[in-house]
Amino acid sequence: MTSTKPLNEYSITEAARALRAHECTVRELWDACMTAAQARNAELNAYLELFAPDEDAITAAQKRIDTEGEAAPALCGIPLAIKDNILIKGQIASASSKMLANYEASYDATVIEKLKAAGALFLGRVNMDEFAMGSSTEHSAYGPSRNPHDPSRVPGGSSGGSASAVAANMAIAALGTDTGGSIRQPAAHCGLVGLKPTYGAVSRYGAIALGSSLDQIGPLTKTVADTKVLFDTLRGQDERDSTTTSEGFYASRTQGNTLRIGVPRSFIEGVDADVKTAFEETLTRLEAAGHTLVDIELPTSTYALPVYYVIMPAEASTNLSRYDGIRYGLAKRGATLLDDYIESKTEGFGSETQRRILLGTFVLSSGYIDAYYRKAEAARNVLRAEYGTAFESCDVIAFPTTPSPAFKFGEKTNDPVAMYLEDIFTVTANLTGMPAISVPMGMVKREESTLPIGIHFTAAHGEEETLFKIGAAVTGEALY
Ligand code: GLN
Repeated sequence: MTSTKPLNEYSITEAARALRAHECTVRELWDACMTAAQARNAELNAYLELFAPDEDAITAAQKRIDTEGEAAPALCGIPLAIKDNILIKGQIASASSKMLANYEASYDATVIEKLKAAGALFLGRVNMDEFAMGSSTEHSAYGPSRNPHDPSRVPGGSSGGSASAVAANMAIAALGTDTGGSIRQPAAHCGLVGLKPTYGAVSRYGAIALGSSLDQIGPLTKTVADTKVLFDTLRGQDERDSTTTSEGFYASRTQGNTLRIGVPRSFIEGVDADVKTAFEETLTRLEAAGHTLVDIELPTSTYALPVYYVIMPAEASTNLSRYDGIRYGLAKRGATLLDDYIESKTEGFGSETQRRILLGTFVLSSGYIDAYYRKAEAARNVLRAEYGTAFESCDVIAFPTTPSPAFKFGEKTNDPVAMYLEDIFTVTANLTGMPAISVPMGMVKREESTLPIGIHFTAAHGEEETLFKIGAAVTGEALY
């Protein structure tokens, strides 16, 4: 069946099929994405940089498809967008910060090695909130990205450039990173599927660190099937990241295709009325398809956000201390060594980054570490235990991904706490290390715009397959 859809609008699975059926070439697919990116990037600012085509990689991918056919990896010849905090050898990786404006990666991240081995191609590096701190890309040092569904609104963040690029069909799919929701929230705001894998499922080697006990790299894609393709390619143990887990972990313990969906209704009272309606309608549809709804309580969830905003800045302040103007990053010279530090950090870091460094340094300081950091770690353990208990009575836990659809530029920039509330449903998966997915669940109206919203599912550690099952049930994909 020949599709009349423009090539850049293809999903990974559609493009892989078209390449094998010789309906298009790798070069044509690359050109379609690149042309779309060149046409729309001035408006959307999704890409910080578009790369020149790697002719050798394009030729090699085409040859592999021609000779291996179905046996060639699904990602062979597929053009992707890569978040600016994931290292590609020889390319700049700035984490959207002035601090790393000229930093050229001297090695490939493990995920990039794996994508190269599969024959994937890289269109460019995409915008993000500085060092992945934020929910809108408004904290990028290079200007915000825009939401293709309404360019007066944010695409979400911090992987907002990834989401904007894929939603505007300027890439077939993208990689992002997720420390507290940075893949799932922009996926929800842009109508995409986004996965935060189990902590340790995907190597963090070559990802610029933010919160090391929370960070994971993952995909933003047009379909659940595409997310599965990317996850299966990226995951696996890596001796260069000692927190990665072994392959055998991913044999799903969930039997059959009908799942028990835990719904913590008391926790979602604050969401917008139309988001709540769409959420309930989606659950009703899943119930009609044979899934079971289970009422659950997660009383500690109300503390997840404050716990996250203690632990995450603590880890960020530690990770960012290396950018001191001496060892790494922008180097300014003052009258004394202290002036060197102050001038480099003042000029190199944006205001949100500085705020988090201050917060993190405060909660780790000797007078306050017990009151804040250690208490937050204790609460994190309670949260983990509570989720563990919940998964005795259900296979997945459902929330809306965000309380509201994409907001307008400037709406939350003067109120950090309002911005932090964007993450209320997403941070727990990072604190517990559990995998979580956001899948489109419909559209809502705001003023003149029709905007996508997402449904969010969390599963027990290593249960990505279960998330793909429930995600496919929502999108209607015949995956299982
Ligand atoms: N929005 C969250 C924050 O600002 C999440 C960031 C992330 O996941 N990288 O910290």
